[in-house]
Amino acid sequence: MTNHTADAGPRTVAGASATVFRDVRPFGGPAVDLIAVDGVLADAVPDGAVVEYVDGGGRLALPTLVDTHIHPDKTAWGEPWHSRRPARGIAEYVAGDVELHRALPTPVAERARRLMAHAAAQGTRAMRAHADVAPAYGLKGVLGVAEAREKLRGVLDVQLVAFPQHGVERAPGAAELLEEAAAGGLIDAVGGIDPAGFDSGDGTSGENRQLDLVFGIAERHGLAVDIHLHDVGERGLGPLRDIAARTEALGLRGKVTISHAFAVAALSGRELDATADLLASADIALTTVAPSAKTVLPFRRLAERGVRVGLGSDGVRDNWSPYGNADMLHRVWLLGWTRGVRLDEELEACFRLAADGGAELLGLPKADLRPGAPADFMLVEGECLPQVVIDLPRRDVVVRAGRVVARDGRLV
Ligand SMILES: [Zn+2]
Repeated sequence: MTNHTADAGPRTVAGASATVFRDVRPFGGPAVDLIAVDGVLADAVPDGAVVEYVDGGGRLALPTLVDTHIHPDKTAWGEPWHSRRPARGIAEYVAGDVELHRALPTPVAERARRLMAHAAAQGTRAMRAHADVAPAYGLKGVLGVAEAREKLRGVLDVQLVAFPQHGVERAPGAAELLEEAAAGGLIDAVGGIDPAGFDSGDGTSGENRQLDLVFGIAERHGLAVDIHLHDVGERGLGPLRDIAARTEALGLRGKVTISHAFAVAALSGRELDATADLLASADIALTTVAPSAKTVLPFRRLAERGVRVGLGSDGVRDNWSPYGNADMLHRVWLLGWTRGVRLDEELEACFRLAADGGAELLGLPKADLRPGAPADFMLVEGECLPQVVIDLPRRDVVVRAGRVVARDGRLV
């Protein structure tokens, strides 16, 4: 992860430099000056500091957001329009991924950089990026996203997951590639996919070789785990319990995430609480991309039971879907829409999931605009936070570690 103090702007030999963002309204409250010193918000400008001023013009200041689940390697963002064919089931979607990958004229590194730069300019401070690892591509996805991460260092923090989208059991060679990605030191987490459904092998052994492999790699290389779990009912809940047991047994509490977790979204009442308690006791986090009213996670109930939850974009304009734009404020809008929320405090809770929930999930300090917090925020025109979530104003200024990194939706 990027060192917050490494890129705080111009310095002098004499001492600190500070940037004062004048006339801004944190969370829509009264106008104040936000003072950034060495990448962190401060109470006051240090004596003798070289000061730079940025006029906020009475804009709202809001924390920049965290995208906990995105696939930059798959995107056709910025490419000529891609017309999708009908597809059913993961295997058909995956075949379409390979076709699109081969058809796109732009290398992964450039496509990923373009999308990630766009995300940062819309106010994303950090993301967890899944990159496909499969014999069809080798490690091109991981290498490409790692290259994009390097180009955006100081603007965007990126955690990289090696994701066996084609399965491990189903795709001979994927296991070796995951090992290679882990040994290469480029990834932060090893991924997985539907161990009891899509990638269940022949189903006769009663064991799960995908989970054996994924947890084995995580343990040997000191990596986190982030598993896509789309299956519902016992096919989803069985692996969820298995993942919780392995997490406890291997001492990986706090390092394991289950993405989507539609099986959890389908629960209610006591069943939901019991599953939440199991996840909380193993400190397993969940991510949702708010795909629909039926599959979005009940994040507030989960939080009440101690489960960490993050919000993400998922695929952006890829073979799976023409939708998505890597704009986390828009994703907050979608979360509110799919949850059917109406009250101000509910809209604010949706925003906080993307700001604080994501930061906690990725192990980043909370950007809450208080002294001591990272000077990571955006300035937008507006009246108050609930109204901003609904109206999605242009991100006029995006500040990272006290430095203006984007204006009017573009990196500077
Ligand atoms: Zn995904």
